[in-house]
Amino acid sequence: MAQIYDRVALIGLGLIAGSMSLAMRRAGLAGEVVGYARSAETRDTAREIGLCDRVCDTLADTVKDADLVVLCVPVGAMDSVAAEIAPHLKPGCTVSDVGSVKQAVVAAVAPHLPEGVHFIPAHPMAGTEHSGPRSGFATLFDNRWCIIVPVEGSDPDALQRVHDLWKGMGSFTDEMDPAHHDLVVAVTSHTPHLIAYTMVGVADDLGRVTDSEVIKFSAAGFRDFTRIAASDPTMWRDVFLTNKEATLEILGRFTEELFALQRAIRQGDGDHLHDYFTRTRAIRRGIIEAGQDTDAPNFGRGGAH
Ligand code: NAP
Repeated sequence: MAQIYDRVALIGLGLIAGSMSLAMRRAGLAGEVVGYARSAETRDTAREIGLCDRVCDTLADTVKDADLVVLCVPVGAMDSVAAEIAPHLKPGCTVSDVGSVKQAVVAAVAPHLPEGVHFIPAHPMAGTEHSGPRSGFATLFDNRWCIIVPVEGSDPDALQRVHDLWKGMGSFTDEMDPAHHDLVVAVTSHTPHLIAYTMVGVADDLGRVTDSEVIKFSAAGFRDFTRIAASDPTMWRDVFLTNKEATLEILGRFTEELFALQRAIRQGDGDHLHDYFTRTRAIRRGIIEAGQDTDAPNFGRGGAH
């Protein structure tokens, strides 16, 4: 794959930025990758492990002469970062992001960007419960979808290059408008995370009664919940604060279904339960057929990520 950008700047040096840098290096997509993180500690770690080609100590130096700037910070930090980089952006460059929520990010970032800078938001549908500069790996985006969310009047060439970048990093790409994106991820990612956080919280409360039993006899279902519920607290706080409407809509539907299942259990309505579980099992098969998970024991998760 040929080089797409001469210089790429990554703001925030955590799981997503680290994985992007390694995936870009793997395919030779950027001439140089420069990076910046808020804390000196993260910047030092990034230098030590060679997360990217060069780590800068200021936002201004990081974005200087960059052809692509990618905001890889928590959604709640996008506004202040965009405001600070805006005066230093190269005319005609592209600004993108990887935030998990899109309406709030567009509203926070777009007003700061000068005329002539292209804004092409994106969201890779790939992640793990790990965070920080040491958590990235080159294959994170392989065979995963990246949703690109063009804003009004996006420049076709700039848009195409962002598609090419994500494809070069191993992803499939698709486009959605910001509101639709936020609803889709509320169903597929945000609400499931909230449910996992809740279930682990409930087990923790129970743990005080049953002591270590919850951990000792932790079965696959619960273990998967604990993995999801170990995700970064800052990132997920910001997700729920900024994707409020869509998450509340899906949670409302979830609660209704839960009450219906609760009633079926109380009334001994086995047909209801069986029909429901038959329908949901078909969804699992669909995900495996679409290549988005494996049928291997323990979901093929060897524990590395
Ligand atoms: P992460 O590993 O926690 O890294 C976040 C990085 O942002 C850190 O380097 C942190 O710097 C920096 N940062 C935080 N606040 C900042 C600020 N105010 N100014 C400058 N830098 C700041 O996070 P991540 O998992 O890569 O997530 C990054 C983005 O990708 C988020 O918007 C998230 O919603 C999105 N996303 C995440 C996943 C996932 O599963 N993790 C998947 C798809 C998209 P310090 O280390 O110095 O604090």
